[in-house]
Amino acid sequence: MQRILQPGEIESLDRIEFPRLRLPQPAVLFTERAARLRQKADGHPIADYLRFLAHLVDLQAQAAATVATQPVPEAVIAQSLDHGMPVLPAPLRPDPAWLGMLRQLLAGVLALQDLPQALRQNAQALAARGDAELEALAQAFLGDQATPAELAAQPLVMAALQVVYADIASRLDTQRIAYVDPASICPVCGSAPVVSVLRIGGEAGGHRYLHCGLCATEWHMVRVKCSHCESTKGVRYQGIEGGDPAVLAETCDSCHTYRKQVNQEKDPLVEPLADDLASLTLDLLMADTAYARASGNPLLALASGEPSGEDLDTQDA
Ligand SMILES: [Zn+2]
Ligand SMILES: [Zn+2]
Repeated sequence: MQRILQPGEIESLDRIEFPRLRLPQPAVLFTERAARLRQKADGHPIADYLRFLAHLVDLQAQAAATVATQPVPEAVIAQSLDHGMPVLPAPLRPDPAWLGMLRQLLAGVLALQDLPQALRQNAQALAARGDAELEALAQAFLGDQATPAELAAQPLVMAALQVVYADIASRLDTQRIAYVDPASICPVCGSAPVVSVLRIGGEAGGHRYLHCGLCATEWHMVRVKCSHCESTKGVRYQGIEGGDPAVLAETCDSCHTYRKQVNQEKDPLVEPLADDLASLTLDLLMADTAYARASGNPLLALASGEPSGEDLDTQDA
């Protein structure tokens, strides 16, 4: 089927050899994320929470090794290609395997010796809920419609959903995943990206990818575009003076949002979700600007940090 090329695709035609999509490898993904969370926790204002998440991501890695999701029906893939839609739009009912994953993660969390009391109570309350209630909660988080009272459960519920969605995404064929509109949503699950990441090494090196917070698929978007509204006007970067040069806030004067960009060229070990969580100070400073955060981190609901008082250093793109 012939179709008109979009601006981002035209710009990249001369370098078409790099991958448009980087599907997750769950075993590697969760292992690297846990290691990065531990590394970042040392001396961090929210060290306890980052270490708790490292445990949770360890449990995700174990769960990912045994999860059994159903193959995506060919008709669903054909339909998404026909309509330029994500393969599995997230607000649809998740694969039933997710509930077993949640029960497994909760058991693992409750077995931790050094679990802070608030987190223990939260996990116990979640474990006591029936399947129908948990399904409703998953729908609320996936549809971004959870009430403030429910937010404490978000990291655990989303962690279970991540295992399932990453497993499904890892077994898709990149040739059978549509270009979706807008290009700022995940072509696999339709979620917003948490951050973008500049990759190094291999064919993806030097290219910017948006990283899905649910299924961990990464899809290419040219750097000159805002990762939220796709405008090419007024995209700039802000970072903390004297802070980590590998994590900057990409701001857009068209939609007045920001999304962080993590840069492997500055630090090869950056991991999108972990580095986003570990750079909460940047979010606190951005809260005093005219830019709103474009999308949240699914593993963040309980944590809070202290403003550091450091100054923002504005850099032109
Ligand atoms: Zn996704
Ligand atoms: Zn924008």
